[in-house]
Amino acid sequence: MLKLVCPYCGIEADETELVSGGEAHLKREGPDSTDDDFEGYLFLRENPKGVILERWRHAMGCGKWFHVARCTVTQEVFGTYPAQTFKPPPRIMEEIKSRRTGQENGLNSDKAEKFS
Ligand SMILES: [Zn+2]
Repeated sequence: MLKLVCPYCGIEADETELVSGGEAHLKREGPDSTDDDFEGYLFLRENPKGVILERWRHAMGCGKWFHVARCTVTQEVFGTYPAQTFKPPPRIMEEIKSRRTGQENGLNSDKAEKFS
């Protein structure tokens, strides 16, 4: 079972106490965006075999949204951090780099570059 530490209340919550919110750090497109950009914002999501940054809500606890860096293959969690950030904190990126080498199991190279 997936267990995540809520960065707000510090509780290690079981998956059953949480609600998944999908991919983190999406750029919200507005009314001035192109149709392709808006379609991408609404429908296109990453589904990597490896590390992903995603949103979770501590629904049965404090109710707040937070972000998680986790591996979709092994369920290994690299850390959690508050949702009010535009990119993962350096300690999360360092944790991913220290435990994962090679592109196959690491964070998508475009994402890794975007957040470095
Ligand atoms: Zn909480």
